[in-house]
Amino acid sequence: MDKIDGGNQERRVSAGVIPLSSSGALSQGEHRADGVVLRRREPSPKSGECLLFLRGMGAVWVGAPGSRNRFGGAAEPMTWSSFLLYQSPKRLYLKGADIAEDFWPVKSSGRTLFRAANWCKELAACLPMRYENDAVLSLFWGTMKNLSSGMSPILLDVRFAWRWGNIWGVAPSLEHCPICGAPLFADGAREISRAPDGFVCEKCAPRRARLQGERLEPVSPVAFGVITSAALRPAERFVRSEPEMRALYKADSSLAKETETIISWFYSFVRTI
Ligand SMILES: [Zn+2]
Repeated sequence: MDKIDGGNQERRVSAGVIPLSSSGALSQGEHRADGVVLRRREPSPKSGECLLFLRGMGAVWVGAPGSRNRFGGAAEPMTWSSFLLYQSPKRLYLKGADIAEDFWPVKSSGRTLFRAANWCKELAACLPMRYENDAVLSLFWGTMKNLSSGMSPILLDVRFAWRWGNIWGVAPSLEHCPICGAPLFADGAREISRAPDGFVCEKCAPRRARLQGERLEPVSPVAFGVITSAALRPAERFVRSEPEMRALYKADSSLAKETETIISWFYSFVRTI
């Protein structure tokens, strides 16, 4: 697996771009592609299919009869592999897989498994089928690597949810008020509120609430600072500053609750696509 850019933890899986024909369909025969299993369905031992998230192709359901016995851990959600696929006249099948990373440390702890399972669930629900989403795939890979190395699940969730929305161009701005354009971190504008469609500065919040009849949620400066840092910092700086940010959660028990609410809100943006 090779890096996409200097110091960035969000890495791109190597090789295996699926050659699509001009119509966008796969040619009949074998194809190899790298990616991850998001879901597996096996209603009976002779049936079964897996939802794969593949480089160059995005999300795709592939037939995988008897996957539990035939492919073992390679057909488990969260496992990354180089997949061997077969396109028949009717559908795409899984023929084999070389496991690149099974993320066993993530799967063996309830705390990390909960987050990673939720990422798979959100991706399975939101990714359009057969539409290349390599930037999101790279982000997911880097997030799983960081989770596997022991970094804070809640901070990684903030970063993943916001960056995914940002790749798709739907994430709320963390830098400017969407109404007046003022910097959200400028002097005298540190009282941030959360409107349904974005973070609003203190000057615009009362007017917005009055005109739209909305109840805006105040965002604590500590929560806004941590969320902004976790989401926006370049990978190396984020990794370096993670212990400091993690300590804030130990010192303030309400911070986790506020952060979880904002994480759910970030996911609501990608769900609208
Ligand atoms: Zn404003």
